Amino acid sequence: MAYDPLTDEQRELRDLVRTLSRERIAPRAAEIDEKHEFPWDVVELFRDNDLFGLFFDEEVGGLGTGTLLSLIAIEEVSKVCATSGLILAVQELGSLGLKLAGSDEQKQQWLPRLATGEWLCAYALTESGSGSDSAAMRTTARVDNGEYVLNGSKRFITNAGVAQLYTVFAKTDSAAGHSGISAFVVEADTPGFEVARVEPKMGIRGSTTGELVFEDCRVPAANRLGEEGEGFKIAMRILDRSRPGVAAQGLGIAQGATDYALEYAKTRETMGRPITQHQLVAAMLADMETKCEAARGLLYKFGQAVDEGVDGPELTKLSAMTKLYCTDVAMDVTTDAVQVLGGYGYIQEYPLERMMRDAKITQIYEGTNQIQRLVIAREMVKEQRAFLLAGVG
Ligand SMILES: Cc1cc2nc3c(=O)[nH]c(=O)nc-3n(C[C@H](O)[C@H](O)[C@H](O)COP(=O)(O)OP(=O)(O)OC[C@H]3O[C@@H](n4cnc5c(N)ncnc54)[C@H](O)[C@@H]3O)c2cc1C
Repeated sequence: MAYDPLTDEQRELRDLVRTLSRERIAPRAAEIDEKHEFPWDVVELFRDNDLFGLFFDEEVGGLGTGTLLSLIAIEEVSKVCATSGLILAVQELGSLGLKLAGSDEQKQQWLPRLATGEWLCAYALTESGSGSDSAAMRTTARVDNGEYVLNGSKRFITNAGVAQLYTVFAKTDSAAGHSGISAFVVEADTPGFEVARVEPKMGIRGSTTGELVFEDCRVPAANRLGEEGEGFKIAMRILDRSRPGVAAQGLGIAQGATDYALEYAKTRETMGRPITQHQLVAAMLADMETKCEAARGLLYKFGQAVDEGVDGPELTKLSAMTKLYCTDVAMDVTTDAVQVLGGYGYIQEYPLERMMRDAKITQIYEGTNQIQRLVIAREMVKEQRAFLLAGVG
């Protein structure tokens, strides 16, 4: 078994999530995928076992057990069902705006319902014309009679239609670029807010991905997060902390695929022996396991860094590296896992083709892996390492 740096209490919670995942979620995973069905029963399971509480402080009704453990929970659930793992990750993504930029009143108003999972939430940044270039958004929020009036639309929003609370970014000053963006909390039953459609897609099929439309949607001024014009900074600070949730999802998928491929390979025989004894297969398994373990090292380091209060550029770079590496590993490892099963890897009776489809999205959302590379390189260029050159003389 792999070494881990967890305390006994953390190990106990991880084992609870692991058991629930194996016994209650794994048997549902294929059906959730096949039927494109949002798994409300899994939400209920998370509620009953206080798993949403892992993402929240005790003051608002959470468990206060920290970031490392919350990432481990996403990893454990994603080993058996990436759609279900995403439900946990998005509860963090959709609530981080309130946690990082909300006033005490705003936190008390909304976070307790998110901490129990009574309400699900979502994060709405992307538009049809602005994904990687999110500052090019066109949704507007103008002030009228002490309220904001939102007009525009958001595309590809996870939890569309199942979330009761949306963190929405809109331009309060269209001429001001990045600093013209503000952040708002919008409740699902606000008049003028509508989920226009839900997209069929390649993987994470039980998760809803939808288009939000705002037509003269009036939001109280008290729903603005932070000051006017601070929205872009808030959006980026959220992503620094949420991207590793996608990393945890990717790592979970990769480890789940490795575990499955290993057990299969031990019993599948060709040329008179189990395929684990063919060196080319053994090498694939060894590489898969090593990549997962290296990815876990980065993920846990990120969790520990947040729990120790690390912030700023250091966190930005570590977050981007964690997301990049864990999710590239997810794609590489699931592709090899399909290969280990040969033809059986490619058919739906076995879970690996689903895992490979699910892995792909982790390289795309919350900033594509091209964007993660840009972020890492940008932070590197700011660092000072000239002393090494000086040493060379
Ligand atoms: C299933 C799903 C769920 C999602 N959930 C959410 C959500 O909950 N909330 C939300 O706000 N968004 C969400 N998204 C949106 C997602 O974050 C964006 O799709 C993603 O950021 C990429 O944006 P884009 O699709 O517009 O691609 P584009 O930005 O058009 O990029 C196209 C290609 O060009 C590359 N590229 C773009 N700019 C550069 C550059 N400067 N340098 C190098 N390469 C570049 C990209 O890496 C990509 O390969 C989701 C998307 C999907 C598919």
